[in-house]
Amino acid sequence: MYVVCKEHVELAIEQFVDEYEDAPDIVDLKETVFSDWDPPARCAECEKNAEYLVI
Ligand SMILES: [Zn+2]
Repeated sequence: MYVVCKEHVELAIEQFVDEYEDAPDIVDLKETVFSDWDPPARCAECEKNAEYLVI
């Protein structure tokens, strides 16, 4: 699972495919509310706001 900004979505998808050998689902964090989990505020690859969950 990767939490990334818009620019790093492609990178996260590649990493996901390498690791799991399957296509990920992309979740828009702005449109999704998690009842029991707070996603990280920052991208895993840079200092920008996290926008997408690659899962
Ligand atoms: Zn980023």
